[in-house]
Amino acid sequence: MTKYKPVIGLEIHAELNTKTKMFCDSANDPNEVRPNVNVCPICLAHPGTLPVINIEAVNKVIKTGLALGSNINNLSWFERKNYFYPDLPKGYQISQYEKPFCEGGVLKLSSGKEIKIRRIHLEEDTGRLIHETQNLKHETHERQGKISGSMFHASSFVDFNRAGVPWMELVTEPDLENGQEAREFGEELRLLFRYLNISDADMEKGQMRVEANVSLRAEGSDKFGTKVEIKNLNSFRSAERAINYEIVRQTKILESGEKIVQETRGWDENEERSFSQREKEESHDYRYFPEPDLPPVRLDQDQIDYIKSELPELPSKRRERFVWEYGITSKDSEVLTVQKELGDYFEKIVSELKEWLVASNAIKVSTGLTKLAANYLITEIQKLLSESKTSLADLKISAEDFAELIILINQGKISSSAAQTILAEMFKTGEDPHQILEDKNLSQLSDKSELIKLAEEVIAQNPQPAADYKKGKTESLKFLVGQLMRLTKGKANPQIGENVLKDLLGR
Ligand code: ADP
Ligand code: MG
Repeated sequence: MTKYKPVIGLEIHAELNTKTKMFCDSANDPNEVRPNVNVCPICLAHPGTLPVINIEAVNKVIKTGLALGSNINNLSWFERKNYFYPDLPKGYQISQYEKPFCEGGVLKLSSGKEIKIRRIHLEEDTGRLIHETQNLKHETHERQGKISGSMFHASSFVDFNRAGVPWMELVTEPDLENGQEAREFGEELRLLFRYLNISDADMEKGQMRVEANVSLRAEGSDKFGTKVEIKNLNSFRSAERAINYEIVRQTKILESGEKIVQETRGWDENEERSFSQREKEESHDYRYFPEPDLPPVRLDQDQIDYIKSELPELPSKRRERFVWEYGITSKDSEVLTVQKELGDYFEKIVSELKEWLVASNAIKVSTGLTKLAANYLITEIQKLLSESKTSLADLKISAEDFAELIILINQGKISSSAAQTILAEMFKTGEDPHQILEDKNLSQLSDKSELIKLAEEVIAQNPQPAADYKKGKTESLKFLVGQLMRLTKGKANPQIGENVLKDLLGR
């Protein structure tokens, strides 16, 4: 039997977080809940109005292209994509076709596999239809399937706040092979968008949308099969599931000797299955032609170079740098990369640790300290945040105080359980760790000469276990350490205490 290999390409849209819309100065505010507030004659397509290109949006697309290693076209232009739909007031969408701003580029997955980018272009988003008797999810099916009919019932509304918002589209080469890779690609791209600050890329708010093209080719052949496009993917998880579902569906069809129909299918998240929406239109159906109301866009090299020089550190770089610079594990580095703000906070703590070390004449931050800081951030702080249902932005602990706590732990001045108590208190009140340590009397007894005195007392009070240990009964040592802890009300540094006992008992 012929074996089939999946071939997958993605089309990913993102709403750019510009101040104003793509071709007018109406506000671009995704959080506006009142309908039809951010509108003007231009985005409502009144006769006689003319669009003006939003340079901020163009710069954001170029920034994205540069981060992905795309070629930036020095000359490009906008085109009209003609189709009718009630959420599209002009009757066409201004998009790019022949000459997008960016062509080529790659995004590397964590597996090391490189996914090639075909193009990145800029267009405008549409308005939003609201059907009173139908839920929004249903509306989305209709919108994307362009099914007419029932949507024209008496109570349909349209909100044009989103109409004309800058809408960037990135198209990959068909380099992906399964649903998981597609999810990884989407997640990595979303992270990149956030690092670049070009989009908030919140999928739940529709700020990032994914469409997947899936086909199968016979193993050993490089001829691509007929592709099916899947829409209504509300999360990267859905994309993963929908793609894997589609691979199974197409395999069954081909194995039974039938043909794949080129079509657009919708994904039903609840039923975990896809359904046919429409047979795919071809690009000539849209009658693309250069937008006559806008001039071509000439980008001079200085502008491109300037944007390039302003690129921030990218997630892939941070991932690697945190490992070699701070000696933390790649797992911790991943957490501090994906949660960018947590990583930023971590770096502030490290710089406080550096300052302290310079002041105390040490030359460089030991990885012991940075690892400890990463550890407490990732486990303890995240736990406290999730328990209190708050976010890092609400954190009351300054980086300086956090660093001081790490130093206290590192110097053995507090035990790990005391550290947790102090941290919980810092989290609640924002007070500094030394103050809490004093108020709660939590300091750990690490002074060796003090511990020797106490250990002698323990040995004198427990002659039998002491003698047993001398004879080789190792469990007796644990008992003696326990007695030392009891005597000091839990404050003895257990490691130093144990060593002192061993020394005194001559083992
Ligand atoms: P269309 O003209 O139908 O939009 P494109 O050639 O523009 O198709 O490609 C759209 C997306 O589909 C791209 O991401 C591309 O990589 C992917 N693609 C193209 N051909 C195939 C195929 N045979 N199987 C899977 N994906 C494909
Ligand atoms: Mg296309």
